[in-house]
Amino acid sequence: MPSKDDFTLKVKNKCKKLGLDVFGFADPNNYQKYKDYPEWNRPEKFLPHLKTVIVVGIHLDDIILDTWFQSSNGNYQFADMIIENKCYKLKEFLIDKGYAAEIISYTPGLFLKDSAALAGIGPIGKHNLLITKEFGSQVRLRALVTDAPLICGEPVIESDFCKNCDLCIKACPVDALKGGKYNKSLCETYQLNNLKKLSNHSSIWCNLCIKACPIGSENRK
Ligand code: SF4
Ligand code: SF4
Repeated sequence: MPSKDDFTLKVKNKCKKLGLDVFGFADPNNYQKYKDYPEWNRPEKFLPHLKTVIVVGIHLDDIILDTWFQSSNGNYQFADMIIENKCYKLKEFLIDKGYAAEIISYTPGLFLKDSAALAGIGPIGKHNLLITKEFGSQVRLRALVTDAPLICGEPVIESDFCKNCDLCIKACPVDALKGGKYNKSLCETYQLNNLKKLSNHSSIWCNLCIKACPIGSENRK
């Protein structure tokens, strides 16, 4: 068996090889929030005796990746199929090395942005989304759980990016971010009433607050 350091490096290299744009490792025992979640949203629900939560993400660098499709089986985002495929390959890699691994479904799932912040990928910003320094919030996340013990990232609790900034708050057309509190109902109502239709079955949701965020804007389209 390789050392924890060596195997962590191997998993990182595998993530890079798979084309995952962001990734990080979180310690499930190091987070009070996991314990506060409903039982069906906790990491151990998906793999008893897990040691690590792996959070991965891809940059939504093309409009088609950010598109939601309506089908008879429900709604799905095009990016989900791509990220699921990469997660499957990562899972196979871990199993091949002798570890158990499971890809976590979106519903019920982990609270992905909290897990990403715990893994040290980035903080949650004033727009209530994860911020990555490379791509801002223009990423789609997914998580796996594994009993492989990996070296975990340093949790990011505060957003230094947001200290002197309120661009996302100003960009929101319905003040859903006013006063530092995310108003889900205002946001969702606006989004549903303002879907940008690409076709009868595909649409793009509001992402004005994501676009307004200056972090990683140099890498976004
Ligand atoms: S997604 Fe749109 S409506 Fe929702 S908070 Fe962001 S800017 Fe406001
Ligand atoms: S726009 Fe500014 S305040 Fe809003 S999330 Fe980005 S850095 Fe934070």
